[in-house]
Amino acid sequence: MKRILITGGTGFIGANLCHRLIAEGHRVICLDNNYTGTLSNVSDLMEHPNFTFVEHDVIEPWDCEDPLDRIYNLACPASPPFYQGARSIFTTKTCVLGAINMLELAKRKGARILQTSTSEVYGDPIVHPQHEGYRGNVNPIGIRACYDEGKRCAESLFFDYNRHEGVDIRVIRIFNTYGPYMNPEDGRVVSNFICQALRGEDITIYGEGQQTRSFQYIDDLIEGMVRMMENEQGFIGPVNIGNPGEFTIRQLAELVLAKIPTGGKLVFRPLPADDPTQRRPDIALAAEKLNWAPTIVLNEGLDKTIAYFRKAIGLED
Ligand code: UDP
Repeated sequence: MKRILITGGTGFIGANLCHRLIAEGHRVICLDNNYTGTLSNVSDLMEHPNFTFVEHDVIEPWDCEDPLDRIYNLACPASPPFYQGARSIFTTKTCVLGAINMLELAKRKGARILQTSTSEVYGDPIVHPQHEGYRGNVNPIGIRACYDEGKRCAESLFFDYNRHEGVDIRVIRIFNTYGPYMNPEDGRVVSNFICQALRGEDITIYGEGQQTRSFQYIDDLIEGMVRMMENEQGFIGPVNIGNPGEFTIRQLAELVLAKIPTGGKLVFRPLPADDPTQRRPDIALAAEKLNWAPTIVLNEGLDKTIAYFRKAIGLED
């Protein structure tokens, strides 16, 4: 039994991680400001003796009396409509101040800390697929920079705390992920397309739909994340965790419509600025160091996710 803090614990990935770690018998403190997360994602855990929820924003320092063995630092809005615009400065603060506050906590407690970094550190990549040695192609003054540069700065903080403060770190770079506990109103492509189709609305493709993404089912990510945290070889990363199956956004739309024929037609909307044209993880390092590879293909993961969204948007009890 370990004592584990999860920041961003009521969000999509955090809630899945809370459920996994509680099921394994660990003690979990779930910390969130509920900006994009929601308490309903963990409502079934609230009465569990090993689970504690704390409402807190990681921009502010945080401490607890209990010892801590592990910290998973997930806190950050991750969907472009939520991290950009009026919230962009808050996003950078969450990445940077959140990292500092949690690294300081890890140092005080002697806890191991894992940073959930992102494929966004590669920006609009020129190298394809993206391996961990690629340094990326990020526009530092664009509308995505608050997230991309925030996450890049957090990585640099993690490595400096490791080099100079002796903090035991792990860094993963997460590629596009989907599955249960996603917020239907999140604005990301998988949730948008499925919810639009279920509601009989048109499917909104940004641009021509020729840009690609590689979609990973949440259970595969959680497995990779826990393996990375618990690896005892001293492998600190960064390591890509994603599914190399690459699809155009148009292919994704057609796949969703084939599964939910009640959906409307495809409609084309302007492509947001700096939207990456291609993205696919090279996962050789994760295979070598963690003996990890994804097991759930998009076709199967979409079925599970559609079943979840049917309930989440009230189409089924
Ligand atoms: N996208 C789209 N329609 C939508 C939402 C997103 O075509 O309703 C596109 C978006 O422009 C991007 C891709 O789908 O090219 C993935 O977008 P998402 O926000 O899910 O993730 P990210 O861009 O952060 O990888």
